[in-house]
Amino acid sequence: HRFSTAAVLEEPITPPVQINYTQLLINGQFVDAASGKTFPTFDPRTGEEIAQIAEGEAEDVNRAVSAARKAFDEGPWPKMTPYERSRILLRFADLVEKHSNELAALETWNNGKPYEQAAKSELPLFVRLFHYYAGWADKIHGLTVPADGPYHVQTLHEPIGVAGQIIPWNFPLVMFAWKVGPALACGNTIVLKTAEQTPLTALYVAKLFHEAGLPPGVLNIVSGFGPTAGASLASHMDVDKLAFTGSTDTGKIVLELAAKSNLKPVTLELGGKSPFIVCEDADIDKAVELAHFALFFNQGQCCCAGSRTFVHERIYDEFLEKSKARAMKRIVGDPFKKGVEQGPQIDSEQFEKVLRYIRAGRESSATLECGGDRLGSKGYYIQPTVFSNVQDDMLIAKDEIFGPVQSILKYKDLDEVIHRANATRYGLAAGVFTKNVNTANTLSRALRVGTVWVNCFDVFDAGIPFGGYKMSGIGREKGIYSLNNYLQVKAVVTPLKNP
Ligand code: ADP
Repeated sequence: HRFSTAAVLEEPITPPVQINYTQLLINGQFVDAASGKTFPTFDPRTGEEIAQIAEGEAEDVNRAVSAARKAFDEGPWPKMTPYERSRILLRFADLVEKHSNELAALETWNNGKPYEQAAKSELPLFVRLFHYYAGWADKIHGLTVPADGPYHVQTLHEPIGVAGQIIPWNFPLVMFAWKVGPALACGNTIVLKTAEQTPLTALYVAKLFHEAGLPPGVLNIVSGFGPTAGASLASHMDVDKLAFTGSTDTGKIVLELAAKSNLKPVTLELGGKSPFIVCEDADIDKAVELAHFALFFNQGQCCCAGSRTFVHERIYDEFLEKSKARAMKRIVGDPFKKGVEQGPQIDSEQFEKVLRYIRAGRESSATLECGGDRLGSKGYYIQPTVFSNVQDDMLIAKDEIFGPVQSILKYKDLDEVIHRANATRYGLAAGVFTKNVNTANTLSRALRVGTVWVNCFDVFDAGIPFGGYKMSGIGREKGIYSLNNYLQVKAVVTPLKNP
């Protein structure tokens, strides 16, 4: 195969940033873990360790929750005026913007995503999200309710309290913003657990948050592992709300922990197996490019990746040839190198998992069109891989692969593709590619998913809600919808005349 392997085989480019923060952030202070333990974090380009990080466990979660509790119950945060909170969010966003090149470099170093993607798309989105939520802080208000009796009835929309937030490794900063932005705008305090693979950027931005004037205890960051730090947070009796993004299997675990402890409400953003439907009237070249992007973006590590490319039988052959050619042209290499489209997968576990799925595809009756193996001998690079003749019941068509593996499936008519697209336990997103507005409307209404992108994909503006039907999750993040996740509604009833 003609892959651009040169960049991979060169010595890795030295990241233009230093690592300054590796401890836990509790009550506004960087501190060691109570146990003194640390764990390594790795560079996915080489698999080599880049730093030791304080490893938070139950005792550290306890400390962080106490700090958040105090900041909520006694501290200035929920008592500040919404405008004061808004100003801090805005100052923070501006500081992040000022440091966005370093932050993008740190994100790439720890995650392996192309630097240009981090710098030009994810950092600006991060800043935009905080501007957006800063704008909401002073626009959260209740209602007056007409009652049947002689009562004055009003609702107060109050913060819930201490929010526990658990985020994944595929978009460390963007996930931070989706969770932290609305929670703070509503006046909550937070204990956030980062993914064990990617602890670095959250610590950096949390430091900037304190520089922007965030009071101590309002945002606490605990780095550490899921079954220890994550589970302690999910089951903590003094955490009032849990927000989780990750796999469906882990989502079930945290929901159960939340229920068994104090019944804290839980929002979940989980896995997907999104269909990308190319209709018979589609401009084939444009459809090929968008379907390619929908799957391969971020090394295929997106919960909403368009991982089932359904193509109408009339254009299937041409679409397939062009998709294969496009995948073979994909530039894979050191994510710090300009022009690179695809870096390494996050870690050895994900790398091995993706390769196992590729093997399952090769052993099935699907046709391997290109790729199918690792790239180079160092780090976690995988060749852009395309399978054709994929059938619905194959493992690669059913499971979330979370890697650069495109599955192309053939369909005959709309009713059939609607049925097949919906025949999955997931319901996160879908792509539709057509020139016909009736087809677009028919598909948009029929697909049981939280987002339908028509003639576009992965559009993530701050105001657009995101979340899943079925086993892809509970609740919506971003936009006005995410505010509800972080608010309690209190009804206040007063007689109109003194009793
Ligand atoms: P992935 O397979 O993509 O790594 P996970 O769902 O395992 O997805 O991880 C997402 C987040 O959930 C990470 O922060 C991880 O540490 C955390 N996590 C994993 N297992 C648990 C658990 N048992 N309890 C709480 N959090 C967990």
